[in-house]
Amino acid sequence: MNTIDQFDFKDKKALIRVDFNVPLDDEFKITDDKRIRAALPTISKILKDGGSVILMSHLGRPKDGPTDKYSLKHILTDLSALIGVEVKFADDCIGESAVKQSADLKPGEVLLLENLRFYKEEEKGDVAFAEKLSKLGDVYVNDAFGTAHRAHASTSIIAQFFPDAKYFGYLMASEVENAEKILNHAERPFTAIMGGAKVSDKILLIEKLLDKVDNLIIGGGMAYTFAKAQGGEIGTSLLEADKQELSLELIEKAKAKGVNLILPVDTVIADKFANDADKKDVTSGQIPADWMGLDIGPKSVELFQDVIKKSKTLLWNGPMGVFEMESFQVGTKAVAEAVVAATKDNGAFSLIGGGDSAAAIAKFGLEDEVSYVSTGGGALLEYMEGKELPGVKAING
Ligand code: AMP
Repeated sequence: MNTIDQFDFKDKKALIRVDFNVPLDDEFKITDDKRIRAALPTISKILKDGGSVILMSHLGRPKDGPTDKYSLKHILTDLSALIGVEVKFADDCIGESAVKQSADLKPGEVLLLENLRFYKEEEKGDVAFAEKLSKLGDVYVNDAFGTAHRAHASTSIIAQFFPDAKYFGYLMASEVENAEKILNHAERPFTAIMGGAKVSDKILLIEKLLDKVDNLIIGGGMAYTFAKAQGGEIGTSLLEADKQELSLELIEKAKAKGVNLILPVDTVIADKFANDADKKDVTSGQIPADWMGLDIGPKSVELFQDVIKKSKTLLWNGPMGVFEMESFQVGTKAVAEAVVAATKDNGAFSLIGGGDSAAAIAKFGLEDEVSYVSTGGGALLEYMEGKELPGVKAING
């Protein structure tokens, strides 16, 4: 793997694609700086070598060109504090001033470019736009795993202009290594825990995992489609009616492949979608009309925990219930704790998929107690599905 460790950046200008798409509050204060912190080791290595750094990222989804709300200038103060260097800012990611500011950078200096998505060419993967960006640096580094599944100008198209000078940053490298470890070097028993709202988002991954895992646990909103397909009553719980047949097929496939597919045996139901709803535990598939399932029940917790704790490899993607509400976080928290226990007591390798599972494990303060928490939601899913990510291919190819 072509990582930045293979290059001495002394007197070079490194153009780094980072994922600084951080959440901001109404006063443009960063509410979670995890994505910035994740890129710091790469930035530090380049500065330590005696190079300079040009950072490029997107922020949000601006629709109509430059918009103050989506300006990366809002992160400048925090970014400077985190890097420990006063970061300069180019208020356009291409154009004369960006070219001049980049050319004027001295070793040890850092320049942040304005939001790439102020140009529609970025998401279109426009070659001419990528070429303009490429003029700003001597070396291209990709450290934005969160957007590696997109063939955007700055994430993949640009690499062709650096045929002999393109590298993975440390974050990208460890994301790929950890995903590979799960896909190709999993110690058994290997258990995948799938949750979240929709079956449709995760079908491809579930199918792929059926060739790899010993146990497949399914919880969260997607479990109700399975329950309904098996003839159960699910009240007003989440249902993807058109995926019922597919759920039954997945159950059959699991059987044929000898995979232990584990669905919730009970569920916590609520009379409304609210933290203060009336709630009770019922057997799966026995939900009264007008009630909805918002968490797995205590028997499922025990069942899932038992399997998880005996595993040597764990992949977790998607919460077991509506963990954002205190009343319905029990199942997700119990699964998180079991993953931690397996990691500590059983020496398991545990990979937490990005997105909501990462948010859940952070909410419970257990981020540092598992083997790896991915920063990529969609990117990790696609990698696990066996797709070649454009951002990875661009550096490897
Ligand atoms: P996903 O993005 O597919 O991983 O789904 C994550 C979302 O699924 C979270 O916001 C959860 O609140 C939601 N979720 C999990 N279980 C349920 C459920 N039983 N009913 C409704 N939403 C759920």
